[in-house]
Amino acid sequence: MSTKTRRVTWGGKIMGAEMRAKCTREAARKAIRDANRAEAEAWSLRLEGYGGPAQPSPTIGQCLNGGLGRLEVECNRCKTRVSLPPDAIRRPRETPLWKLEASLKCRSCRKGRHAPPVHMIKLTETREITPYKWVHPDEDR
Ligand SMILES: [Zn+2]
Repeated sequence: MSTKTRRVTWGGKIMGAEMRAKCTREAARKAIRDANRAEAEAWSLRLEGYGGPAQPSPTIGQCLNGGLGRLEVECNRCKTRVSLPPDAIRRPRETPLWKLEASLKCRSCRKGRHAPPVHMIKLTETREITPYKWVHPDEDR
């Protein structure tokens, strides 16, 4: 078999297989994204509708991957609501969302090291309310 014939015979097969691999890879990524979104939405609805439980929750990475990149939280004292991107809080992407709640503090209610607790409301795609103006959890250290 000449080199040319070999190219013709195998070239198409290889290209086809590579294309199938690429498509499958993309489909798998999309499936994961869809699953992450569904999971994040379910959690968000449970939280907003029933007020919890917040545990277990999806992780920061799952929310971002699913396209729900904003977490809305409310101060238990002054009822101020803010929306923040969960990745603005420097935590590993594997961190479940419920773990963030304890690190968030309302700037206007904070007195020294003490701040009233906040609770999470829901996840949104984009910012619907006030941008994040809260005390960054890392400021305390
Ligand atoms: Zn407050």
